[in-house]
Amino acid sequence: MSELSTHGEAGLSRGAVALQRYEHSVMGTFGTPLRVLTHGAGSYVWDADGNRYLDLLGGIAVNALGHAHPAWVDAVSKQAATLAHVSNFFATPTQIELAEKLLDLACAPAGSRVFFTNSGAEAAEAAFKMARKTGKRRIIALENSFHGRTMGALALTGKPTIREPFAPLPAGVEFVPRDDIDALVAAATAGDLAAIVLEPIQGEAGVRPLSHAYLELARELATRHQALLVFDEVQTGVGRTGAWFAHQLHGVQPDAMMLAKGLGGGFPIGALVAFGERAGSLLGKGEHGSTFGGNPLATAAALATITTIENAGILDNVKSVGEQLRAGLGAIPGVAEVRGEGLLLGVGLATPVSARVAAAAIDAGFIVNAPGPDTIRLAPALTLTSDEAQTFIAWLATYAAAQPFDSVAAS
Ligand SMILES: *Cc1c(COP(=O)(O)O)cnc(C)c1O
Repeated sequence: MSELSTHGEAGLSRGAVALQRYEHSVMGTFGTPLRVLTHGAGSYVWDADGNRYLDLLGGIAVNALGHAHPAWVDAVSKQAATLAHVSNFFATPTQIELAEKLLDLACAPAGSRVFFTNSGAEAAEAAFKMARKTGKRRIIALENSFHGRTMGALALTGKPTIREPFAPLPAGVEFVPRDDIDALVAAATAGDLAAIVLEPIQGEAGVRPLSHAYLELARELATRHQALLVFDEVQTGVGRTGAWFAHQLHGVQPDAMMLAKGLGGGFPIGALVAFGERAGSLLGKGEHGSTFGGNPLATAAALATITTIENAGILDNVKSVGEQLRAGLGAIPGVAEVRGEGLLLGVGLATPVSARVAAAAIDAGFIVNAPGPDTIRLAPALTLTSDEAQTFIAWLATYAAAQPFDSVAAS
Protein backbone atom coordinates (compact mmCIF):
# COMPACT_ATOMS: atom_id res chain seq x y z
CA MET A 1 0.00 0.00 0.00
CA SER A 2 2.22 2.85 -1.14
CA GLU A 3 1.30 5.09 -4.03
CA LEU A 4 -2.32 6.15 -4.44
CA SER A 5 -1.80 5.72 -8.17
CA THR A 6 -1.18 1.98 -7.86
CA HIS A 7 -4.81 1.44 -6.91
CA GLY A 8 -6.94 1.16 -9.98
CA GLU A 9 -9.62 -1.27 -8.89
CA ALA A 10 -12.42 -1.70 -11.40
CA GLY A 11 -15.19 0.87 -11.22
CA LEU A 12 -13.56 3.15 -8.63
CA SER A 13 -11.60 6.29 -9.42
CA ARG A 14 -8.24 6.87 -7.77
CA GLY A 15 -9.83 9.50 -5.56
CA ALA A 16 -12.60 7.13 -4.44
CA VAL A 17 -10.10 4.40 -3.59
CA ALA A 18 -7.97 6.84 -1.62
CA LEU A 19 -11.05 8.03 0.28
CA GLN A 20 -11.84 4.45 1.30
CA ARG A 21 -8.32 4.07 2.65
CA TYR A 22 -8.66 7.40 4.48
CA GLU A 23 -11.87 6.33 6.16
CA HIS A 24 -10.24 3.14 7.40
CA SER A 25 -7.10 4.78 8.74
CA VAL A 26 -7.69 8.44 9.72
CA MET A 27 -9.87 9.34 12.71
CA GLY A 28 -13.26 10.66 11.69
CA THR A 29 -13.05 14.11 13.34
CA PHE A 30 -13.29 15.99 10.05
CA GLY A 31 -16.01 13.93 8.39
CA THR A 32 -15.62 12.73 4.82
CA PRO A 33 -13.03 14.77 2.89
CA LEU A 34 -14.41 16.64 -0.12
CA ARG A 35 -11.65 15.45 -2.45
CA VAL A 36 -8.19 13.91 -2.30
CA LEU A 37 -5.78 16.65 -3.40
CA THR A 38 -2.38 15.78 -4.80
CA HIS A 39 -0.62 18.97 -5.92
CA GLY A 40 -0.96 22.69 -6.39
CA ALA A 41 0.53 25.69 -8.17
CA GLY A 42 -0.36 29.28 -7.38
CA SER A 43 -4.11 29.50 -6.72
CA TYR A 44 -4.86 26.12 -8.31
CA VAL A 45 -4.93 22.61 -6.84
CA TRP A 46 -5.52 19.24 -8.50
CA ASP A 47 -7.28 16.16 -7.17
CA ALA A 48 -6.29 12.50 -7.46
CA ASP A 49 -8.46 12.13 -10.57
CA GLY A 50 -6.75 15.03 -12.34
CA ASN A 51 -9.49 17.65 -11.87
CA ARG A 52 -8.33 21.25 -11.34
CA TYR A 53 -9.81 23.67 -8.77
CA LEU A 54 -9.38 27.39 -8.16
CA ASP A 55 -8.56 27.44 -4.45
CA LEU A 56 -10.52 30.32 -2.93
CA LEU A 57 -10.18 29.01 0.62
CA GLY A 58 -6.38 28.81 0.72
CA GLY A 59 -6.31 26.00 3.27
CA ILE A 60 -8.51 28.25 5.47
CA ALA A 61 -6.49 31.46 5.22
CA VAL A 62 -3.17 29.60 5.40
CA ASN A 63 -1.66 29.51 1.90
CA ALA A 64 -0.87 33.23 1.77
CA LEU A 65 1.38 32.83 -1.26
CA GLY A 66 -0.73 30.14 -2.89
CA HIS A 67 0.69 26.68 -3.53
CA ALA A 68 4.36 25.94 -4.22
CA HIS A 69 5.42 29.60 -4.48
CA PRO A 70 9.05 29.53 -5.75
CA ALA A 71 10.40 31.89 -3.04
CA TRP A 72 8.77 29.83 -0.27
CA VAL A 73 9.87 26.50 -1.77
CA ASP A 74 13.42 27.81 -2.14
CA ALA A 75 13.61 29.13 1.44
CA VAL A 76 12.14 25.97 2.99
CA SER A 77 14.32 23.66 0.86
CA LYS A 78 17.50 25.58 1.67
CA GLN A 79 16.68 25.69 5.38
CA ALA A 80 15.87 21.96 5.41
CA ALA A 81 19.29 21.33 3.90
CA THR A 82 20.98 23.64 6.43
CA LEU A 83 19.40 23.26 9.88
CA ALA A 84 15.85 22.01 10.41
CA HIS A 85 15.52 21.81 14.16
CA VAL A 86 17.41 22.51 17.35
CA SER A 87 15.94 22.61 20.84
CA ASN A 88 14.96 25.85 22.52
CA PHE A 89 18.16 25.53 24.54
CA PHE A 90 19.58 27.27 21.47
CA ALA A 91 18.71 30.31 19.37
CA THR A 92 18.84 30.38 15.56
CA PRO A 93 19.20 33.27 13.09
CA THR A 94 15.81 32.75 11.41
CA GLN A 95 13.99 32.73 14.75
CA ILE A 96 15.60 35.99 15.86
CA GLU A 97 14.97 37.59 12.49
CA LEU A 98 11.30 36.55 12.47
CA ALA A 99 10.69 37.84 16.00
CA GLU A 100 12.24 41.20 15.08
CA LYS A 101 10.25 41.32 11.84
CA LEU A 102 6.93 40.66 13.59
CA LEU A 103 7.61 43.31 16.22
CA ASP A 104 8.57 45.74 13.48
CA LEU A 105 5.45 45.06 11.34
CA ALA A 106 3.25 45.30 14.44
CA CYS A 107 4.85 48.67 15.38
CA ALA A 108 5.35 47.12 18.81
CA PRO A 109 6.84 49.40 21.49
CA ALA A 110 10.03 48.78 23.48
CA GLY A 111 9.86 45.73 25.72
CA SER A 112 7.59 43.79 23.33
CA ARG A 113 8.40 40.10 22.88
CA VAL A 114 7.30 37.11 20.76
CA PHE A 115 6.55 33.53 21.89
CA PHE A 116 6.54 30.99 19.05
CA THR A 117 4.03 28.14 18.84
CA ASN A 118 3.01 25.54 16.24
CA SER A 119 -0.64 26.47 15.84
CA GLY A 120 -3.34 28.99 16.60
CA ALA A 121 -4.69 27.00 19.54
CA GLU A 122 -1.25 27.03 21.11
CA ALA A 123 -1.07 30.80 20.66
CA ALA A 124 -4.39 30.94 22.54
CA GLU A 125 -2.94 28.74 25.29
CA ALA A 126 0.01 31.09 25.64
CA ALA A 127 -2.38 34.06 25.88
CA PHE A 128 -4.44 32.22 28.48
CA LYS A 129 -1.36 31.52 30.60
CA MET A 130 -0.29 35.13 30.23
CA ALA A 131 -3.72 36.25 31.46
CA ARG A 132 -3.39 33.98 34.50
CA LYS A 133 -0.01 35.55 35.27
CA THR A 134 -1.69 38.94 35.76
CA GLY A 135 -2.80 37.46 39.10
CA LYS A 136 -6.42 38.15 38.20
CA ARG A 137 -8.99 35.55 37.32
CA ARG A 138 -11.79 36.75 35.03
CA ILE A 139 -11.51 36.66 31.25
CA ILE A 140 -14.10 38.12 28.89
CA ALA A 141 -14.54 36.47 25.50
CA LEU A 142 -17.27 36.74 22.86
CA GLU A 143 -20.20 34.54 22.07
CA ASN A 144 -19.65 32.63 18.82
CA SER A 145 -15.90 33.23 18.99
CA PHE A 146 -13.39 30.60 17.88
CA HIS A 147 -9.91 30.29 19.37
CA GLY A 148 -9.00 26.64 18.79
CA ARG A 149 -9.63 23.09 19.98
CA THR A 150 -7.21 22.49 22.87
CA MET A 151 -8.75 22.72 26.34
CA GLY A 152 -7.58 26.27 27.11
CA ALA A 153 -8.40 27.57 23.63
CA LEU A 154 -11.78 25.83 23.88
CA ALA A 155 -12.40 27.52 27.23
CA LEU A 156 -12.12 30.86 25.35
CA THR A 157 -14.34 29.68 22.49
CA GLY A 158 -17.95 30.86 22.56
CA LYS A 159 -19.56 27.97 20.70
CA PRO A 160 -21.47 25.79 23.19
CA THR A 161 -21.79 22.78 20.87
CA ILE A 162 -18.03 22.28 20.57
CA ARG A 163 -17.34 23.15 24.26
CA GLU A 164 -19.94 21.19 26.14
CA PRO A 165 -18.75 17.62 25.42
CA PHE A 166 -15.41 18.50 27.03
CA ALA A 167 -16.51 20.10 30.30
CA PRO A 168 -15.06 20.91 32.74
CA LEU A 169 -12.82 23.41 30.94
CA PRO A 170 -10.39 25.83 32.61
CA ALA A 171 -12.48 28.25 34.66
CA GLY A 172 -12.89 32.01 34.68
CA VAL A 173 -14.10 32.75 31.14
CA GLU A 174 -17.35 34.67 30.59
CA PHE A 175 -19.01 35.30 27.23
CA VAL A 176 -20.68 38.49 26.05
CA PRO A 177 -22.55 39.10 22.77
CA ARG A 178 -20.51 40.66 19.95
CA ASP A 179 -20.72 44.43 19.57
CA ASP A 180 -22.95 44.80 22.65
CA ILE A 181 -21.40 47.84 24.35
CA ASP A 182 -23.46 47.68 27.56
CA ALA A 183 -22.69 43.98 28.10
CA LEU A 184 -18.96 44.61 27.66
CA VAL A 185 -18.95 47.56 30.05
CA ALA A 186 -20.90 45.58 32.66
CA ALA A 187 -18.63 42.53 32.42
CA ALA A 188 -15.43 44.60 32.48
CA THR A 189 -16.56 46.58 35.50
CA ALA A 190 -17.37 43.50 37.61
CA GLY A 191 -13.79 43.34 38.95
CA ASP A 192 -10.82 40.93 38.91
CA LEU A 193 -10.46 41.33 35.14
CA ALA A 194 -7.40 39.61 33.68
CA ALA A 195 -8.12 39.90 29.96
CA ILE A 196 -10.52 40.66 27.15
CA VAL A 197 -10.02 38.26 24.22
CA LEU A 198 -11.51 38.91 20.79
CA GLU A 199 -11.13 38.41 17.07
CA PRO A 200 -11.25 41.79 15.24
CA ILE A 201 -13.16 39.89 12.55
CA GLN A 202 -14.84 36.71 13.79
CA GLY A 203 -13.76 34.20 11.16
CA GLU A 204 -15.44 30.93 12.04
CA ALA A 205 -18.60 32.80 13.03
CA GLY A 206 -19.02 33.67 9.35
CA VAL A 207 -16.58 36.57 8.80
CA ARG A 208 -18.22 39.10 11.11
CA PRO A 209 -16.19 42.25 11.79
CA LEU A 210 -16.44 43.96 15.17
CA SER A 211 -17.25 47.66 14.98
CA HIS A 212 -14.54 50.28 15.33
CA ALA A 213 -16.32 51.73 18.38
CA TYR A 214 -16.42 48.32 20.06
CA LEU A 215 -12.69 47.71 19.54
CA GLU A 216 -11.89 51.16 20.90
CA LEU A 217 -14.10 50.53 23.92
CA ALA A 218 -12.41 47.19 24.58
CA ARG A 219 -9.03 48.99 24.53
CA GLU A 220 -10.29 51.66 26.91
CA LEU A 221 -11.83 49.16 29.35
CA ALA A 222 -8.76 46.90 29.36
CA THR A 223 -6.51 49.89 30.09
CA ARG A 224 -8.81 51.23 32.80
CA HIS A 225 -8.97 47.87 34.59
CA GLN A 226 -5.31 46.99 33.99
CA ALA A 227 -6.37 43.95 32.04
CA LEU A 228 -4.81 42.57 28.86
CA LEU A 229 -6.49 43.25 25.55
CA VAL A 230 -5.81 40.13 23.47
CA PHE A 231 -6.60 40.10 19.76
CA ASP A 232 -6.87 36.74 18.05
CA GLU A 233 -5.46 37.52 14.61
CA VAL A 234 -4.89 33.87 13.71
CA GLN A 235 -7.21 34.28 10.71
CA THR A 236 -6.95 38.06 10.09
CA GLY A 237 -3.17 38.51 10.52
CA VAL A 238 -0.21 38.63 8.14
CA GLY A 239 -1.73 40.66 5.31
CA ARG A 240 -5.07 38.88 5.02
CA THR A 241 -7.11 42.10 5.41
CA GLY A 242 -4.81 44.31 3.31
CA ALA A 243 -3.06 45.58 6.46
CA TRP A 244 -0.36 43.50 8.15
CA PHE A 245 -2.74 43.01 11.07
CA ALA A 246 -6.47 43.78 11.19
CA HIS A 247 -6.17 45.92 14.32
CA GLN A 248 -4.03 48.35 12.33
CA LEU A 249 -7.10 49.17 10.23
CA HIS A 250 -8.60 50.54 13.46
CA GLY A 251 -5.52 52.05 15.10
CA VAL A 252 -6.28 49.99 18.21
CA GLN A 253 -3.19 48.27 19.62
CA PRO A 254 -3.67 45.15 21.75
CA ASP A 255 -1.46 43.96 24.63
CA ALA A 256 -1.11 40.59 22.95
CA MET A 257 -1.85 39.24 19.49
CA MET A 258 -2.27 35.61 18.47
CA LEU A 259 -1.01 34.59 15.03
CA ALA A 260 -0.87 31.31 13.09
CA LYS A 261 -2.65 30.24 9.85
CA GLY A 262 -1.10 32.52 7.18
CA LEU A 263 2.12 33.16 9.13
CA GLY A 264 4.02 30.19 7.70
CA GLY A 265 2.41 30.25 4.26
CA GLY A 266 1.55 26.55 4.69
CA PHE A 267 4.20 25.57 7.22
CA PRO A 268 2.76 25.05 10.72
CA ILE A 269 3.77 27.94 12.96
CA GLY A 270 2.00 30.28 15.36
CA ALA A 271 3.04 33.11 17.60
CA LEU A 272 1.93 35.23 20.50
CA VAL A 273 3.16 38.79 20.15
CA ALA A 274 3.16 40.61 23.50
CA PHE A 275 3.15 44.39 23.27
CA GLY A 276 5.21 46.49 25.67
CA GLU A 277 7.22 45.80 28.82
CA ARG A 278 4.39 44.49 31.02
CA ALA A 279 2.86 41.96 28.61
CA GLY A 280 6.30 41.13 27.20
CA SER A 281 7.57 39.93 30.56
CA LEU A 282 4.50 38.22 32.11
CA LEU A 283 5.69 34.75 31.10
CA GLY A 284 9.16 34.27 32.55
CA LYS A 285 11.82 31.59 32.57
CA GLY A 286 10.38 28.09 32.91
CA GLU A 287 6.75 29.25 32.73
CA HIS A 288 5.99 28.16 29.18
CA GLY A 289 7.62 26.20 26.40
CA SER A 290 7.30 24.14 23.23
CA THR A 291 9.66 21.62 21.65
CA PHE A 292 8.99 22.67 18.07
CA GLY A 293 8.00 26.29 18.73
CA GLY A 294 9.98 28.66 16.49
CA ASN A 295 12.25 26.02 15.00
CA PRO A 296 14.52 27.02 12.09
CA LEU A 297 12.42 25.36 9.39
CA ALA A 298 9.16 26.96 10.55
CA THR A 299 10.67 30.40 11.06
CA ALA A 300 12.41 30.27 7.67
CA ALA A 301 9.04 29.49 6.06
CA ALA A 302 7.42 32.42 7.88
CA LEU A 303 10.22 34.80 6.96
CA ALA A 304 9.94 33.81 3.29
CA THR A 305 6.18 34.34 3.45
CA ILE A 306 6.47 37.78 5.02
CA THR A 307 9.33 39.07 2.89
CA THR A 308 7.57 37.92 -0.29
CA ILE A 309 4.37 39.69 0.75
CA GLU A 310 6.45 42.79 1.46
CA ASN A 311 8.63 42.80 -1.63
CA ALA A 312 6.03 41.82 -4.19
CA GLY A 313 3.53 44.54 -3.21
CA ILE A 314 1.03 41.86 -2.30
CA LEU A 315 -0.88 43.98 0.22
CA ASP A 316 -2.00 46.23 -2.65
CA ASN A 317 -3.21 43.14 -4.51
CA VAL A 318 -5.17 42.05 -1.42
CA LYS A 319 -6.95 45.41 -1.36
CA SER A 320 -7.71 45.63 -5.08
CA VAL A 321 -8.77 42.01 -5.68
CA GLY A 322 -10.70 42.10 -2.39
CA GLU A 323 -12.61 45.17 -3.63
CA GLN A 324 -13.26 43.50 -6.98
CA LEU A 325 -14.70 40.40 -5.29
CA ARG A 326 -16.74 42.49 -2.89
CA ALA A 327 -18.28 44.55 -5.70
CA GLY A 328 -18.75 41.66 -8.13
CA LEU A 329 -20.24 39.21 -5.65
CA GLY A 330 -22.30 41.90 -3.92
CA ALA A 331 -24.08 42.67 -7.20
CA ILE A 332 -25.34 39.09 -7.63
CA PRO A 333 -29.09 38.73 -6.95
CA GLY A 334 -29.64 36.83 -3.71
CA VAL A 335 -26.34 37.97 -2.18
CA ALA A 336 -27.53 40.03 0.79
CA GLU A 337 -24.15 41.41 1.83
CA VAL A 338 -20.41 40.84 1.60
CA ARG A 339 -18.63 41.14 4.96
CA GLY A 340 -14.97 41.29 5.89
CA GLU A 341 -11.81 43.06 4.73
CA GLY A 342 -9.30 42.43 1.96
CA LEU A 343 -9.24 38.75 1.06
CA LEU A 344 -11.17 37.51 4.08
CA LEU A 345 -14.73 37.71 2.82
CA GLY A 346 -18.04 36.33 4.02
CA VAL A 347 -20.66 36.27 1.28
CA GLY A 348 -24.00 36.53 3.06
CA LEU A 349 -26.79 34.80 1.12
CA ALA A 350 -30.42 35.83 1.42
CA THR A 351 -31.44 32.33 2.52
CA PRO A 352 -29.68 29.44 4.30
CA VAL A 353 -28.46 27.67 1.15
CA SER A 354 -24.69 27.95 1.62
CA ALA A 355 -24.13 24.18 1.87
CA ARG A 356 -25.60 23.52 -1.58
CA VAL A 357 -23.78 26.53 -3.06
CA ALA A 358 -20.42 25.36 -1.65
CA ALA A 359 -21.05 21.84 -2.96
CA ALA A 360 -21.99 23.17 -6.42
CA ALA A 361 -18.88 25.37 -6.37
CA ILE A 362 -16.51 22.48 -5.84
CA ASP A 363 -18.24 20.43 -8.53
CA ALA A 364 -17.67 23.42 -10.84
CA GLY A 365 -13.98 23.67 -9.87
CA PHE A 366 -13.99 26.33 -7.11
CA ILE A 367 -12.99 25.62 -3.49
CA VAL A 368 -14.92 27.75 -0.98
CA ASN A 369 -16.51 26.86 2.35
CA ALA A 370 -19.69 27.46 4.31
CA PRO A 371 -18.90 28.50 7.91
CA GLY A 372 -22.61 29.10 8.53
CA PRO A 373 -25.95 28.19 6.90
CA ASP A 374 -26.14 31.46 4.93
CA THR A 375 -22.46 32.32 4.50
CA ILE A 376 -19.83 31.41 1.91
CA ARG A 377 -16.29 32.18 3.06
CA LEU A 378 -13.43 33.17 0.78
CA ALA A 379 -9.85 33.29 2.11
CA PRO A 380 -7.76 32.71 -1.03
CA ALA A 381 -4.04 33.19 -1.63
CA LEU A 382 -3.09 36.85 -1.18
CA THR A 383 -1.66 36.52 -4.70
CA LEU A 384 -5.06 35.73 -6.29
CA THR A 385 -5.22 37.54 -9.62
CA SER A 386 -8.01 39.74 -10.89
CA ASP A 387 -8.71 37.26 -13.73
CA GLU A 388 -8.96 34.37 -11.28
CA ALA A 389 -11.36 36.36 -9.09
CA GLN A 390 -13.43 37.19 -12.15
CA THR A 391 -13.93 33.52 -13.08
CA PHE A 392 -15.56 32.89 -9.69
CA ILE A 393 -17.74 36.01 -9.85
CA ALA A 394 -18.93 34.91 -13.30
CA TRP A 395 -19.62 31.35 -12.16
CA LEU A 396 -21.55 32.43 -9.05
CA ALA A 397 -23.65 34.89 -11.09
CA THR A 398 -24.55 32.15 -13.58
CA TYR A 399 -25.29 29.66 -10.81
CA ALA A 400 -27.42 32.18 -8.90
CA ALA A 401 -29.48 32.82 -12.04
CA ALA A 402 -30.11 29.07 -12.49
CA GLN A 403 -30.61 28.19 -8.79
CA PRO A 404 -31.70 31.42 -7.05
CA PHE A 405 -30.46 32.03 -3.48
CA ASP A 406 -33.63 33.81 -2.45
CA SER A 407 -35.76 30.71 -2.91
CA VAL A 408 -35.01 27.95 -0.39
CA ALA A 409 -37.15 25.65 -2.55
CA ALA A 410 -34.39 25.50 -5.15
CA SER A 411 -32.12 23.65 -2.73
C1 LIG B 1 -8.08 28.66 13.08
C2 LIG B 1 -8.19 29.58 14.23
C3 LIG B 1 -7.66 29.24 15.49
C4 LIG B 1 -7.06 27.90 15.78
O1 LIG B 1 -5.90 27.68 15.05
P1 LIG B 1 -5.34 26.17 14.92
O2 LIG B 1 -4.03 26.36 14.20
O3 LIG B 1 -6.33 25.38 14.17
O4 LIG B 1 -5.14 25.66 16.30
C5 LIG B 1 -7.75 30.18 16.49
N1 LIG B 1 -8.33 31.37 16.28
C6 LIG B 1 -8.84 31.73 15.09
C7 LIG B 1 -9.45 33.08 14.92
C8 LIG B 1 -8.81 30.84 14.03
O5 LIG B 1 -9.33 31.19 12.85
